[in-house]
Amino acid sequence: MPVVSAVLQTSFLGDMILTTPLIERLAAEGPVHVVATPANAGVLANHPAVAGVLVFDKRGADRGLGGLRRMAQRLRRIKADRALLAQGSSRTAALAWMAGIPERITFDTSGGRLFTTRRVPYRRDLHHAARLWQLGNAAGRDDVPPPLRPSLHPGPADHASVQALLDRAGVSAQEPLIALAPGSVWATKRWPHYAALAAELVRSIGHRGERIVVLGAAGDAPLAAAIASAALEAGGAPVVDATGQLSLLGSAALLGRCRVLVTNDSAPLHLASAMNAPTVALFGPTVPAFGFGPLAERHTVVEHNSLDCRPCHAHGPAQCPLGHFRCMRELSPAQVAGAAHALHG
Ligand code: SF4
Repeated sequence: MPVVSAVLQTSFLGDMILTTPLIERLAAEGPVHVVATPANAGVLANHPAVAGVLVFDKRGADRGLGGLRRMAQRLRRIKADRALLAQGSSRTAALAWMAGIPERITFDTSGGRLFTTRRVPYRRDLHHAARLWQLGNAAGRDDVPPPLRPSLHPGPADHASVQALLDRAGVSAQEPLIALAPGSVWATKRWPHYAALAAELVRSIGHRGERIVVLGAAGDAPLAAAIASAALEAGGAPVVDATGQLSLLGSAALLGRCRVLVTNDSAPLHLASAMNAPTVALFGPTVPAFGFGPLAERHTVVEHNSLDCRPCHAHGPAQCPLGHFRCMRELSPAQVAGAAHALHG
């Protein structure tokens, strides 16, 4: 008898991407439906392990008790045997309970655990993808996760949008690309030297013809402009500004064409893991040991290893509490460019 699963993941984009190994695990036993935010739902398009996506606009149309009730009715219709509360808030746990899903599983540290029927240990020593994967352990034992990598499946429209972007920028099919992702929701996760890195890359790779492409949301356009002007001043080819130009899966498709990505501890890191794109990950106030490091086969973490204040925050504070921001400022463009070269050869 197939087991119908509902995975509730309404957290950040990176968390959704890291939930895909769990979704694949559950799909071996039956159809998997995913409850996602409007911002993240699109990243699951074309995924062969996903039977359906229910969009839960918890801060908009579905906010409040009325919205929760409506969402619970929609969720009830899929007749799930079990709910996996990957985000684990009281709201999503209450949603699964109101939808009448008999088995409700979350971490033993989750705020909504009182609404659940089984709690799985939250293993701080594991990568978050592995922690989430353990939620799908039907036997209820603490099983050992295999090596995991998230997965995404850009479709023909995503690849076409990338091709159109590169055509507009005059990039040929053979031209190798180096991606930079300078943005982050969290201010102190943003490494401040991307423009200087672009100049450094131009000086060191210019003769080999790689093009720099900047990935990010529309709000990252000023960072892309600074990178583009630094690259031009250093004598490089025009930078391809992809900020705000592509869907999430379009960005994933673009990463699949890049030789290397340089990124903060932010969503593009997880997109690159899903596409197995070589990754240089820059960590400042956070550390990979939190469980959100890169999972691409070829990756390097660049971080300050001699600061007692690291890590200082689960996500990255609004500003450095000590005022000096040495964790990021002291990662040099030359050091990061060297790491990028070492990965892409
Ligand atoms: S306190 Fe330390 S780790 Fe935190 S932002 Fe400042 S320099 Fe970085």
